[in-house]
Amino acid sequence: MSVDSDDVTVEDKKSDGENEEILESKDNEEKVEEDKEQEETDKNKSKRMYNPWKEVAIRAESERRYMENELIKLQKEVQQLYQELKKLKSPPLIIGEIVDVLDDNRVVVKSTTGPNFVVQVANFVDKSKISVGTRVSLNRDSLSVIGILSSSKDPIISEAEIIEKPKVSFKDIGGLETQIKEIKESVELPLVKPELFRKVGIDPPTGVLLIGSPGTGKTLLAQAVAQETNATFIRLVGSELVQKYIGEGGRLVRELFALAKEKSPSIIFIDELDAIAAKRIDTGTSADREVQRTLMQLLAELDGFDPLIDVRIIGASNRPDILDSALLRPGRFDRIIEVPLPNYEARLEILQIHTKRMNLNKDVDVEEIATKTDGLSGAELKAICTEAGMFAIRENHYSVSKHNFDLAIDKVKKSETLSQIKEMGAMFA
Ligand code: ATP
Repeated sequence: MSVDSDDVTVEDKKSDGENEEILESKDNEEKVEEDKEQEETDKNKSKRMYNPWKEVAIRAESERRYMENELIKLQKEVQQLYQELKKLKSPPLIIGEIVDVLDDNRVVVKSTTGPNFVVQVANFVDKSKISVGTRVSLNRDSLSVIGILSSSKDPIISEAEIIEKPKVSFKDIGGLETQIKEIKESVELPLVKPELFRKVGIDPPTGVLLIGSPGTGKTLLAQAVAQETNATFIRLVGSELVQKYIGEGGRLVRELFALAKEKSPSIIFIDELDAIAAKRIDTGTSADREVQRTLMQLLAELDGFDPLIDVRIIGASNRPDILDSALLRPGRFDRIIEVPLPNYEARLEILQIHTKRMNLNKDVDVEEIATKTDGLSGAELKAICTEAGMFAIRENHYSVSKHNFDLAIDKVKKSETLSQIKEMGAMFA
């Protein structure tokens, strides 16, 4: 038993020792693992730990990017300002027109400064675009051609074109039946039925001249014919063609006809033609000579004009007595239509046209007004209607009475006598 018990004790002791070793090694392993874990958590902790330098670095980086963008923006601005400064510092260029193209890169230019010059064409200018009549820009010092300009029209001419058709029809014109018939024949027919003239073998009249006192309806006639024919209406007042510089008036006339051809079918209406077409005299100032040059250009344009193309010319003047006879010869303004002051019937028609939309009292007798207004023009009759309406408004009335018309007739007649006195004064001055 004791042996047995001894044996057990030895074996037990042995196994106890092994167990201890195993336990120890396990403990060690666990410790290593724990250490590792600790290390790991320490690492993570250190990772998670607040690092002020890193934040500073991030902030600096974003600031750098912002600054770079700002720099690019400012550089662009500086560039633009430089360009602007360059434009402001650059001297103005002179506008010229090519008169002749020579060899060796040279051309003859006519500038607005005076005589013609032989000048060089800059290398960067496209030579194929240079021909006689091209508008170019010239260097101020050497006058060499440094740019090609579009052949834009003078604002006076481009503004003369009336985009919206005048809303006037022949029905709005009173007492001018004969004149309407004549203008239809000489302006409307060639535009609407040109084949008629071809078949008969004649040329339609080139130009039509409307003569008569102010306010008799000359402009109205021209507007109505443009409306009826659906033609572009180009209206210019003769005095607009009188320019300060030599050759400018002639250029305007050329541009006027070029625009009319471009926009054909078209009607050129030159009001107050006497401003450029007064009789030519030998003596005179340089200004007179410039006006005469403009007239000569107009005559040249009329002569070189194909009567069968879709452009018609209407002139109007209050002073036919001072017009140059060269303008009135056949082939130029060869159709003269006189627009007289209205007679009783014509006045009645004009008054009926202008009172059509008015709210009239029963006591208003248009026939009586027509009798009272002898010697007045269509424009003055219209003014009477407007004045009568104004008197009614002043009295706080919605309808116009006979009394209002009487006051209006007196007022318009008085202003007419005043203008006559002024005219006489001017004649004696
Ligand atoms: P000016 O020679 O001064 O240019 P004008 O003869 O061309 O004058 P218009 O401009 O045609 O005169 O007429 C001015 C206004 O008078 C017209 O707008 C129109 O209201 C009126 N008027 C003139 N004549 C007539 C008419 N026969 N029928 C209807 N209204 C007329």
